[in-house]
Amino acid sequence: MGALRVPRVLHGGTTLAPEKPASPPPLVVATGTGHMTLWGVPVWIIPPQYHAEMQAELEALSGKAGQGMLYRVAFRSGRRAVEALGLAPPAGASDAERTARLRRFEEITLAAGHGISTVTVGDLARRDVTMTMRYSLLASLHPPSREPVCHYYEGFLAGFVTAVLGAPVEGVETECHAKGDTRCLFRTKPVAASPV
Ligand SMILES: [Zn+2]
Repeated sequence: MGALRVPRVLHGGTTLAPEKPASPPPLVVATGTGHMTLWGVPVWIIPPQYHAEMQAELEALSGKAGQGMLYRVAFRSGRRAVEALGLAPPAGASDAERTARLRRFEEITLAAGHGISTVTVGDLARRDVTMTMRYSLLASLHPPSREPVCHYYEGFLAGFVTAVLGAPVEGVETECHAKGDTRCLFRTKPVAASPV
């Protein structure tokens, strides 16, 4: 099946697509089906407003249970991203290698349209990874809240880190633009078992 190239995402005049190890081009529309893939992973384009409205409906319907649902679905998505992109490190990988793979999170969220994120890897023995987003669309599209609202990113980060480290973590958002903070801040910490 042939593939039709589509323009790469541009930001500030710079091509965001990584030079390696992703095989070019990262964003492809298959001519046979019209389906789009990013680095070979099926994707489609959904406006952030769609997710925000779905989240609002879930929160109105089932409150905390709905938030947990968003978290778990995102957790699976983060774990799948690691598998699909071949980012699961080999057994015995060094901390430096795991750190490099964890940092790919920034590139993936940027290429997928979620904006700029910054990943800081702390003590890997404590599974301590911090991620910040200054421009979370989930937060900016959410009504002001007393609690953090970016459950999707909490879950996706936790699934991603769990898969790279090969050990389950929980993601917790401690600062959120929706509750008046200047950024959204997420940390991971060990848990006994994955939520899903
Ligand atoms: Zn947030």
